[in-house]
Amino acid sequence: MSGSTVAELAYLSRSLKAPRLLAVAGRLAERARDEGWDHETYLAAVLAEEVAARDSHGGSARVKAARFPAVKTIDDFDFRVQTSVKREVIAHLAQLDFLAEATNVVFLGPPGTGKTHLSIALAVQAARRGYRVAFATAHQWVNRLGAAKRAGRLDEELERLGRIPLLVVDEVGYIPFDPEAASLFFALISSRYERRSMIVSSNKTFSAWAEIFGDPVAVAAMVDRLVHHAEVIVLKGDSYRLRGKGEEVLTGSKRS
Ligand code: ADP
Ligand code: MG
Repeated sequence: MSGSTVAELAYLSRSLKAPRLLAVAGRLAERARDEGWDHETYLAAVLAEEVAARDSHGGSARVKAARFPAVKTIDDFDFRVQTSVKREVIAHLAQLDFLAEATNVVFLGPPGTGKTHLSIALAVQAARRGYRVAFATAHQWVNRLGAAKRAGRLDEELERLGRIPLLVVDEVGYIPFDPEAASLFFALISSRYERRSMIVSSNKTFSAWAEIFGDPVAVAAMVDRLVHHAEVIVLKGDSYRLRGKGEEVLTGSKRS
């Protein structure tokens, strides 16, 4: 390989976040010449090494580090049940252009409609593709930031989180926040605005967020930044958790 080809490969593998590709390209090329592989066989061998490296450490380590409550994928989401979101919309998001563009994804809808599932599925995809990801509920994020603030290192914590390309903020709205939360949550959102992505889910519409946070002014400012560059997906329908459970479970009544 000429020096300029090596430099080009180094650049390409860096932009693809595929370090293994560079590490094995030369060695496999030698083998390919020795064994008379055609070009396609060589390409497949190089890519297979990269995929194996991701599966073995990178990908699964990042999925683990993200602390998902459960690992979900797009493949195990049934779009025939949840018809208010099109598979193509999620498939497009799964190409992860939104991370490169530092824009957000917001899922809104009642309990059990797939908000957390789809949030995790997109984040798992990001982790597998080489992005660092962190998952927590809105309350966990607020607690973490509150602790950092009390320790006098809120800015430091926001900066640290700023190095993570994708944060998932689950369940805004199930439990009301205490008064400090609005400013902490605002700080989180504005620190990432146009710089880093978030996936946020909520069972409440934005108009109800004022009540959840108890601070309409801060809420207006945070929602403004959150949705300025965002795909907002509204999920409808009955809870997947309660499917086929029958009326007696839902109403507590027993049929005789
Ligand atoms: P939400 O966050 O909107 O309350 P979840 O995403 O947690 O709902 O979904 C509840 C459960 O139902 C999860 O176990 C999830 O994997 C499953 N689920 C929800 N919608 C679907 C779907 N359309 N296809 C497959 N599983 C689903
Ligand atoms: Mg949920």
